[in-house]
Amino acid sequence: MATLMKSDKRKVSAQLKTEIARNMGHQQLNELLDVVLNPRTSLDSSENLDWCRSLIAGGVAFEDFAKSVRHYDNASTCGLVWTSNFVAYRCRTCGISPCMSICADCFHGADHTDHDFNMFRSQAGGACDCGDPNVMRSAGFCSLHGPDKLKNLTVPADLLPMADAVVPRVVFRFVLYLRDIFEKRSEIPAVRFSLSEGEPLLGLLHELCNMGGAMRSVMTRALTDQQLYKDLNEGSSGCYSQFKRDISQSREILNSAQSILTVPESPKFLRGNPAVTYPLMPLSFVEELLFWAVIFEFPEKIVTLLLKMLPDNSYKDTFTRSFVKFYGRIAMSLATSTQPDKLSSRVVHISVQLFSNEELAIQMTEELQLIHILIVSLQCLLKRTLMDNHLKGTPGTHRNCQVINCDHQVMRQHCYWPVISDLSNILSHRSVVNKFFTDPSLVKMWTNILAMFMCMNLNERELHNHVEFEPLAYSAAFSAEIEACAAPMWQLYVHCKDESTAHYTEALLNACSETITDWLEAADVYKSLDPYQVSFHIPLLRYYALFLSQAVTKQGLAISPQKDFLKSLMNFPLQIQALVGEISCGLWVRNGFQIKRQAITYMQCHFCASMIDLDLFLLQACAAHLDPDYFVEKVFSSFKVLEMLTFNQSHSHSQLELDKESAMLESALTLLVTLLSTRTHLGATEEELLRQEMVALLCMHDTTHSRLTDQIPEKTGLFSTSESFEPLLAEVADYHDPLSERSSRGLQQGHYSPKPSVWETEFDPIHVLLRCMQKKDFQSAMDRYSTHMKQTAGHSGNSDLWPPFQPLKQPHPALKTLHQLLHCKTLHGAIFIILHKAVNSKSISEPVLYLCIALLDMMLQCPADTIASKTPTPAVIQDGNFSAMFPDNLILSNLGHRIHAVEIVYEKPSSSRQRTVHSTDQLLQQLLEEEVSIIHQNLFGLAPMGFPGAAELEGMEEGEEMYVEIDGIGEEEEIDGIEEDEDEDVEEMEMEVGLGEELYVDTPATSEGAMATEASSSRSSVEPSTSPSASAGRPRKPAKVSTVLWTPSKMLTINLSMLELLVKLHAKMAGKEGSYTPPSMRRDTEAGSLPGGVQVGGGMFYVKRLLDKICRMHPESQKQLEDLCRLHQQPTAGTEQPDAQSTAADRRKKAREAQQKLFAKLAAEQKKFIEKSLETEDPLGESPIADEEVQAAAAEKVPDREIFECVICGQTAPSTGDKPIGMVALMQATGVLGHRSQVSEAKTLPTSENEMISTTGRGKEVNQQRKLDLLNHFDKSSVQMSINVGWHGGVHIQSCRHYIHLSCHESYIKSLRQDYQTPQLQVREKGEYECPLCRQLANFVLPCLPFTEGCSPSVAAASSDSRSHAVVAAEVAEKLRLSREGSRESLKDITLAAKSVFLFRLLRENRLPKSAYGDPLLPVDHSEMVDVVLRSTARVNLELDLVVRETLLQPSSQSSSNKRGCIGTLLEVLSLLIGKSSVTLATKPWSMLTELKQISGASEPRSSGSPDEIPVLLKDPVATLINLVLAMQHPISKEHFSCIVRTLYAPLYIQALSVISCRMPDTERRAWAESGKTCQAQSNELQMQPLLSQVINMYSNSTLYDDTDLLERLAICQSVWTLQCIETAAQEYCLPFLRIAALMQHHLFRDELPTCQKQDLEFELLVNYLRLYTAPSVGETPADLYSARCLHFVGNPSEFMKAWCQDLLTFVRKNRKTAKSLLLHNPIFYPPRLLQLPKNYDAVFQYYREQRCQSCLQVPNRPAVCLVCGALICLNGARSGCQRSSITEQHYLSCGAGTVIYLDINSSSVVIVRGERICHWASVYLDRHGEEDRELKRGKPLFLCLQRYKVLEQLWRSHSFNHCCKNWMWHLTHHH
Ligand SMILES: [Zn+2]
Ligand SMILES: [Zn+2]
Ligand SMILES: [Zn+2]
Ligand SMILES: [Zn+2]
Ligand SMILES: [Zn+2]
Ligand SMILES: [Zn+2]
Ligand SMILES: [Zn+2]
Repeated sequence: MATLMKSDKRKVSAQLKTEIARNMGHQQLNELLDVVLNPRTSLDSSENLDWCRSLIAGGVAFEDFAKSVRHYDNASTCGLVWTSNFVAYRCRTCGISPCMSICADCFHGADHTDHDFNMFRSQAGGACDCGDPNVMRSAGFCSLHGPDKLKNLTVPADLLPMADAVVPRVVFRFVLYLRDIFEKRSEIPAVRFSLSEGEPLLGLLHELCNMGGAMRSVMTRALTDQQLYKDLNEGSSGCYSQFKRDISQSREILNSAQSILTVPESPKFLRGNPAVTYPLMPLSFVEELLFWAVIFEFPEKIVTLLLKMLPDNSYKDTFTRSFVKFYGRIAMSLATSTQPDKLSSRVVHISVQLFSNEELAIQMTEELQLIHILIVSLQCLLKRTLMDNHLKGTPGTHRNCQVINCDHQVMRQHCYWPVISDLSNILSHRSVVNKFFTDPSLVKMWTNILAMFMCMNLNERELHNHVEFEPLAYSAAFSAEIEACAAPMWQLYVHCKDESTAHYTEALLNACSETITDWLEAADVYKSLDPYQVSFHIPLLRYYALFLSQAVTKQGLAISPQKDFLKSLMNFPLQIQALVGEISCGLWVRNGFQIKRQAITYMQCHFCASMIDLDLFLLQACAAHLDPDYFVEKVFSSFKVLEMLTFNQSHSHSQLELDKESAMLESALTLLVTLLSTRTHLGATEEELLRQEMVALLCMHDTTHSRLTDQIPEKTGLFSTSESFEPLLAEVADYHDPLSERSSRGLQQGHYSPKPSVWETEFDPIHVLLRCMQKKDFQSAMDRYSTHMKQTAGHSGNSDLWPPFQPLKQPHPALKTLHQLLHCKTLHGAIFIILHKAVNSKSISEPVLYLCIALLDMMLQCPADTIASKTPTPAVIQDGNFSAMFPDNLILSNLGHRIHAVEIVYEKPSSSRQRTVHSTDQLLQQLLEEEVSIIHQNLFGLAPMGFPGAAELEGMEEGEEMYVEIDGIGEEEEIDGIEEDEDEDVEEMEMEVGLGEELYVDTPATSEGAMATEASSSRSSVEPSTSPSASAGRPRKPAKVSTVLWTPSKMLTINLSMLELLVKLHAKMAGKEGSYTPPSMRRDTEAGSLPGGVQVGGGMFYVKRLLDKICRMHPESQKQLEDLCRLHQQPTAGTEQPDAQSTAADRRKKAREAQQKLFAKLAAEQKKFIEKSLETEDPLGESPIADEEVQAAAAEKVPDREIFECVICGQTAPSTGDKPIGMVALMQATGVLGHRSQVSEAKTLPTSENEMISTTGRGKEVNQQRKLDLLNHFDKSSVQMSINVGWHGGVHIQSCRHYIHLSCHESYIKSLRQDYQTPQLQVREKGEYECPLCRQLANFVLPCLPFTEGCSPSVAAASSDSRSHAVVAAEVAEKLRLSREGSRESLKDITLAAKSVFLFRLLRENRLPKSAYGDPLLPVDHSEMVDVVLRSTARVNLELDLVVRETLLQPSSQSSSNKRGCIGTLLEVLSLLIGKSSVTLATKPWSMLTELKQISGASEPRSSGSPDEIPVLLKDPVATLINLVLAMQHPISKEHFSCIVRTLYAPLYIQALSVISCRMPDTERRAWAESGKTCQAQSNELQMQPLLSQVINMYSNSTLYDDTDLLERLAICQSVWTLQCIETAAQEYCLPFLRIAALMQHHLFRDELPTCQKQDLEFELLVNYLRLYTAPSVGETPADLYSARCLHFVGNPSEFMKAWCQDLLTFVRKNRKTAKSLLLHNPIFYPPRLLQLPKNYDAVFQYYREQRCQSCLQVPNRPAVCLVCGALICLNGARSGCQRSSITEQHYLSCGAGTVIYLDINSSSVVIVRGERICHWASVYLDRHGEEDRELKRGKPLFLCLQRYKVLEQLWRSHSFNHCCKNWMWHLTHHH
């Protein structure tokens, strides 16, 4: 054997293979394998592994073997297995199971157009279902997968026999290894188990798996063969013969390991099921692997191996069986795991693959009792958490009730989740559900589990002390109810929708009521509940409610539960409703915020369908079946308002304070109205419900599509999107395109608002109230409603509109008795009392009133169908005895029933009112303080405003739940709600104060009573005593009321009917007695109804409408009303004083007004700030306010620019030597110019391997090349003067045009340094600050030069134009000489410090890219370098100004660039700073241009050795212009400036003609040379034709026209050159110079630039503007004459021309090639563009998420693409060690000089990096609803929004990122 081991592996393998084929050699192979897989040696020997590979391959190379095996892959499914963070797709259209998921390749391989699909990031891992018809429809299969793709391939017999023999041995060895490490587990804790040593062997198994179907069957045979397993284990197979002892020891380990796992406690009927039986000895390798997987908490690599083989059907079957066998153990291990979430997701990763398949699921249910196992497992898990129930029952009785403890780790960690998820999964299969419902033991087990959740997390109201710490168990409780109870409930619900399954529902209802009864008994809460204890969790009752609703409304079952049973049930939901009311009016404050959060969660959209909606239905069912008087009284007593519903106004507020009592009454009435009008479970169709929810959401706020879909109440676990969603949305809402309105925030998203008709007909205040989380949401809906009604519908009333309650709809016939609620004496009595109080006091709030009116209206809408027997009413009624108030339950007769007197129990008024007033006062004070502090924070940025971007990024890196694959409802949403809640607390407090205020303003009741007495007594004296019976007792009444109230009597005389009260109420609202007239007595139609029949209004409108209705319905009442009316129409002498002032409504209004005034004041301050900050938010800086301001300011300063206002000290003063003033300015490095291109089209971002971005013609490369060419041939100083650097990495300077004293700035910075609360600024290092006025970022002050001689440029500019060019040119030369000779010193008035600070900053900003880029021009000597930088800065800023303007002639772009423009000032400062040597250098070219003798070529030839001066015709005229202007003494006169421009135009023009002549074909050129000669002397005005001919003739003797290289030939334009062509080409060539010159003139002299729409007039307009040629009138002179007419020469034109051409030819002779390439240099650049993006985001995403980072060469986990150059980098490089590396900085510096724009691939949003700051900007990709999808959470297709991209490009070109983007944060760690 030893010799065999040493021989060649391939040979040996081949030999063994042939022998085995002849059925020999098995022995030898086994012996060899005994050595290779020796159980005693370590596993990580690569030699041994190679042996395995070689043996399996059987003599061929392993790779070749693998290839041929893969050829026989006949799998019809994809089966790709992935782990977390994998991007997969889910298509709801194609999926059968909701868990369906497919890989990207399969998704893109099929057509899912118009399907409901989304992309998601897998959290728990998964596998591709493509090809599996059990999980998805075949339409969604890709072209490679599906049953029809089954290849009928026969694997050749000689391919796999070796694998067959070797694989089981490899598996066995791996199993032995697992046993071994278990034995050593004391050293390795189970959780930190790592496969380190076994990894290679496991890797081999994975490799084999990846070979496809053929090899998979070899493996699955080995894994599932029980005999093989037995033989190997028992040593009977002939292998490991030398290790028999090791093997049997190892088996012992397996035995002992059994005890590690616990088995769930099992009921009798499950006995014998292996899942709950101990021990469970593995029968095959797959079972043993699974066994160890459980023990080691599912190591990922073992899990994926087991899953990879699932496409093999027989394996899938065996594996599922084994998994079910182990299920109980797995479930139990969840409770003890130390990492339950990790374990959970791995378990689900497996189980979801198995149980999504209906066939398998039902098979397992039938054979292995899968449902039982799941339920028993869950029960055992939950039982661990039980504790005593603390519900207070009857004192002293024995109780035996336990409840889940939500603080237990099983609950807190959601350990039960995998089991629940599996249960929900199998319950989605119809056949499985059938098994469930038809097995009574299962249903009962399930309801027993639900009982454990009953009243968990019990809350007890704190009455005295504030809770010390807020318990957090509630979130565990809510997620438990939703996940464990509601999710399976909805799964079951799906199957109980029609009569065919009525027996299901019946079974469940029976089990529920049985369990409920037991539970009520055990908890001893059959009769009543403690009023201070409440739990939100009653899942068992909710099951009962849901299935009761299904049974009676959908399945035709007649169920009428026992009344006592319902009475017990009703307590629970009613208590919760009362609790919600109590919480919202602040009765639970001592319990802390958590109780509020509970209430919000209870009603929140993700929970409401499973909680509050079902509770309301349960109450509706009770209302329909119970005695209405009982029900209504129970509601009032639960809300603790019975005491308020008495005539005793002075009752002691034993339970509630007055304001709270009123709020509680409102809640109670709201509940009644809600119960009456809600149809959610009363037979409304899904579509009606969806529409209702949509309308409610839209009414509260305009909302985006995604928020709408997200906030439609969700039936947990079911797909919530319905097919009718889009059509319904289109019916009720208008879509607003993101581009339709440009809001102040700039980047609007697409959103929806309700259609006008919705407000008029569908707005349902009750449903909005039910769905709003905060009162302010309801208020918002009401405000929007009022606005709409007042504007659109033309409602013009001044009063606030009352909510327009919808007319009652009929409930489902089965529950039609619900309406009997309206017809009960208790409700009528309560309303009577409320109306009575409303008429006589102010204690009734408006909401209570409108709810009462609405209830009365409802009573009229549906008359009672059962009539209670009439009972006589006593003359004097006991207060509080509702049943005695009215004779029967009919509203129409009760309306007119007069109540005569009430006997009340009088108590002393309590002092609580006084206290309330006081405390409200304090509250208001506190509120004001808070408000003020908030404003302060906003104004001064004292508090961190919160950087959502930061949170997002953080979250991303933590791998937080962004893509929830398998339903993990709960905390995320919940937290949302909570955060919102905290924000709104101030708001809510405001509401409370609102109420308090009202009280505060109230006059004390006593004085009011006195007033009323006076008024009524005066009236009674005039009233005739023989008044009609209807008003018999009336006159005395008010007097009586007050007397009774305030004298110690027990009898209250009332003598009023409801009808009379309503009339009085109307009068009180109208402010005048007798305001109501019945329709029959009305003369004219009154206002109130709107065109189109829409009827809206305030209180008066609704009371009137009600009374009108009564008149129509009830003649008797009409008569009474007519009588009442007549009474008032009789002229009465002592008409009442209009007591309008004292009406409650008015007082409320007054109070509100006072309050509003207060807030308005605060709001105004805030608004001021916001308006200011709007300027900052506007992406393009075109905020109208700001613009006007700036323009006004600018206009003011133009005439006398010496006077500035300092933004710090407010002084208005000129800038002087001792107190210089400057502009607040920001200086930043820029790379924008480098990205200009000579190609006009934008480049495209590549989205496939074969695309590339070319850099030809890009500014930075072109200029770099030209610079290098020049440096190679000419004198360095000459080159410096003829070129500018900073095309890349120059410095851009902008200013907000606010001024500041240099000294004030210094002290401002100093104060900022001390203030540590400016985290956004780099004060310490970079001197950053915010403009004190406009808050723009700035980092230096650009000093304004004082004008000592008092010669402002406007004066200088006024000099005449008449002097000859030569004279002025001489003057310029003289000026230059003066400047050189030191008289510049006279301008040295700016303090030295300011100068050096500016220089220092300028150089530092410049140094940044230089070090990275390497500029051979710079590091010569310091002063030279400084001058190069200064000149280049001028050039860069002028060119950038041009870039931003896009075109010079457009007036609109002017204002925006002017706003930040400071180029004029900058040029002056630069000129001041420029060194003397520069001036000298500038003088030289001037003489070359103005004096013939100076031109070297014309005079004596220079010595060939010395470096040359650049020929005039190769110089860059723009550079020369800037050199000259900077070298001149400032202020420069306009005449001199024009002279310089004129002088420079001549050589430029000759340059143009030279270039054009070079581009002509030979023949054309010759023709032009000839034609020019003839017309040479015809005119003394210069003309193009002769000049061109002269130029051609000059060059024709040289080699210039030889086109020897390809590029030169390409430059030649073969078309015919007409005169017009030449003229156009010449103009084009000159334009770049003219534009810069014009801009300079504009900035230096504030000359308005010419404006014109026609681009082809640009040349003409500019030469006019620059005074090169003044045409009589623009556009008239033939254009072809223009370019030559602008020429000005100091001497003889042809002499100069000859000299310049000679100069060039000298160089041509020396170096023809360079000369020609320099001459042909194209000066025309197009503005820089961002890369063009593909329309569809998916193209970008799919390509770039797989690309490698250009610096670290890894596939980034946060990839980002540079939108300027297309480079891919790691965005969170700081963590992966990439970003900080010098190579990435290379991109960040080289591409954008410190400013880069990235597209964040994983998020789709744009990220801007500016130095050390980073900002998450918006996304340029929007979904089809115009919304962003940051982090791709929804995963829907995204499309490019070109307009947004344009905005981004604009921001980039104009360097406005700092200014226009918000939420900057530091991205480099050292700043934290
Ligand atoms: Zn599809
Ligand atoms: Zn796939
Ligand atoms: Zn596929
Ligand atoms: Zn100042
Ligand atoms: Zn400013
Ligand atoms: Zn990287
Ligand atoms: Zn780039």
